[in-house]
Amino acid sequence: MSKSEKFSEAVLVLRLRPAQTEAEEVEPEPWKGTVHLDGPMVPHPSFLREDDSSKNHAPSNRTTGITKEEYRAQWKDKRAELYQEIRALKKTRELGSPEILAVDVAWPPVDMIQRNGRTDDDLEVALEKYYVGAQHYLIPGEETPISMIERYGADWGLNARGIYYRHIYSPAYVTPCHNLWLPSLHGTHWSHISEDGRRARAEKFLKHSLDNERFKKSEYAWEADAWQDVFGLLREDPALAVDKHEYNTIKQNRSYVSCLLEGQPKFVRRIPDATFGLATFKPADYPDYPDSMDVWSLDRDRLESLLLHRQCGLISDPHWGDVDLVFPFAVYEAKGWSGDPREARRQACSAGAVYLDMLDNLARKPGASPASERPYQTAQSCNNQVFALTSFGAHWHVLVGYKRQRLENEYAGHEGLSKSVYVFQRIWSGRVVTKRKAWELLSLVDQIHSWGVTEHRDFVIQHLKAWHAFGKLCYANDFQYLEGQLSSDPFKEHREEHGEPRILVPVASLQLAAWVKNLTTDARDKLRDKAVFHFGEARRRDADANKDDRSIEWRCIQGDCSPAKRPGFPLKGNEEFLTHCRRVHGCSDKVIANLRHAFNELKDLDERPNEPNMRQMKRSNCGEPGPSTKRHKSRHSTAQGESDLGKGKARAIDLTDD
Ligand SMILES: [Zn+2]
Repeated sequence: MSKSEKFSEAVLVLRLRPAQTEAEEVEPEPWKGTVHLDGPMVPHPSFLREDDSSKNHAPSNRTTGITKEEYRAQWKDKRAELYQEIRALKKTRELGSPEILAVDVAWPPVDMIQRNGRTDDDLEVALEKYYVGAQHYLIPGEETPISMIERYGADWGLNARGIYYRHIYSPAYVTPCHNLWLPSLHGTHWSHISEDGRRARAEKFLKHSLDNERFKKSEYAWEADAWQDVFGLLREDPALAVDKHEYNTIKQNRSYVSCLLEGQPKFVRRIPDATFGLATFKPADYPDYPDSMDVWSLDRDRLESLLLHRQCGLISDPHWGDVDLVFPFAVYEAKGWSGDPREARRQACSAGAVYLDMLDNLARKPGASPASERPYQTAQSCNNQVFALTSFGAHWHVLVGYKRQRLENEYAGHEGLSKSVYVFQRIWSGRVVTKRKAWELLSLVDQIHSWGVTEHRDFVIQHLKAWHAFGKLCYANDFQYLEGQLSSDPFKEHREEHGEPRILVPVASLQLAAWVKNLTTDARDKLRDKAVFHFGEARRRDADANKDDRSIEWRCIQGDCSPAKRPGFPLKGNEEFLTHCRRVHGCSDKVIANLRHAFNELKDLDERPNEPNMRQMKRSNCGEPGPSTKRHKSRHSTAQGESDLGKGKARAIDLTDD
């Protein structure tokens, strides 16, 4: 099958998200309980009473900053105190009949080897209950018995990181402005003739599943079959990269007692059982790629140059430093019968949250500052999502996740909690022991596949455009600076006498994007060599285009915008400069007004050519830069001398004065 045929087939099976109708919403039943805490089983927000008990649980400090042993002792004392009180009340006959306020049900793990006469249905129900984990979400400061912390600490720790699992899907749990796409089994009948192909695949998948159960196979056997039977088509798709692929992130530890985040953030590496992302290309090596693949945006070299430049630092591959599998949209975690299905859920959701952060960063205006400081590129840019799939033997779960801000009722602003929240809702689950169930799972996975190569891939490509344009500007800024240096460099000719070709790089360009600081020195050195290569490549590629390009009008040299004091942060036009000053440097309205006034004066001067042209305004007082003659060890690079910021086409301006 040719690539184009594959794509047209993909479009055919893509179903549009069904419009949300009133009928589909879970109809909330009148609430009969007295206390209710939000948790994975709450089917609709209206089930929570107005006087939500979260308000009664004012965060206490009895759970923070103490060790497990101290907490255990404290808990024992508290219990003894309570019993004493009860005994005293009994003595004076003041003890009425106690009222039960809340019951936490702890579902036991499901042993699939010792079935003890339980039917398939019994097992399925028991496993669904166990999969849910903690009955209610983390309440900061809540004092719970150690046994509860041991059982649910991992789930509550995820809540602190912002990861919330909901066992019952409701559109009401999706932020109104967020447009979530869901695969659906509506509108297709599994016995229809058009489903022949999928039914045949389902039959094969089922046979393997049943064999694995019968012979009590290991996790490896289950996983190997999933790769073949469930993800086979995804792996064959040339637009996708599907692999066991490491992801990196920066994480804080979870406090054992409070389950809140604490301590210094640490670099973390994890490898999910399967990651589904977009394939990258080397168009130069394969000029016959069809245009429809839009390989240019997903060009490995260009993505790597965005990854490394200090002013971009766009991480496209979850394995930092790579550009092989980019912007994942799904993750899979498998557990055999000896594993824990809850752990599979937690691992898959943790990976999913990292992928959501990557997509969120991509969807915002380009720059190296934290994503939260940059606005979305368009009104639709927040509409990204990921899927998380888990299996425990033959029992599969399909979850959909999206990211949003933490809300007030989720203790927004509380210490030890993330700012963002990642909501993962179960959209399907089942034990694949019938052909119908196998078909259902394949149908959903096929739809996710189609969505991945169409909607998701388009989303990524559209949002990469701004990054590529910005990356070009950043490199052009560095070249212009370099050229300014070379034209005033008395040793230039001496350098040209050397026989071997050299790539001249400004010292500032050797400083890599911020994420690189988490890597080892060796890895950093390798990346620095790559950065030098990309500087040369970008210069060669864009030299002609840059010749007459006067788009860089300003260079910001404040604070982090120019850590090596130059060449500064490139900005197009006055408005972009003002927005940058307000957003990145927090300039007050007064400063902005002064700048605007200065711009008008400059404009007047430009329009009166007889007067001396005030190209360069006051120098920044963020420290007079001394001659920068650092010499990088790389054989490609050379030293750079001093040069005025006003050189080149851009202008420098002081914005520290009020
Ligand atoms: Zn700046």
